[in-house]
Amino acid sequence: MAVCDLVTKCGYVSSAMEAMPATGKLLANIYCNGHPADCARYIAASVVGIAKVPEDMSPSDDDLAKKILAGNNN
Ligand code: SF4
Repeated sequence: MAVCDLVTKCGYVSSAMEAMPATGKLLANIYCNGHPADCARYIAASVVGIAKVPEDMSPSDDDLAKKILAGNNN
């Protein structure tokens, strides 16, 4: 268990808390305060930077993370 080091820079969960409080809390518990290394946003951000991660990208969107990483390698 670890707190994500991007938590102050990543706006996803705070946005999700406003739009979908139950979902936002669940995602924060799973990823931000649990297993950030499994978060698709974190994985993408580790390569391209959090500023280039789409704001609405879900922490569970592994397919988009792969596309972002593939695009970064071109
Ligand atoms: S959504 Fe992912 S990148 Fe953003 S704070 Fe949570 S674990 Fe970190």
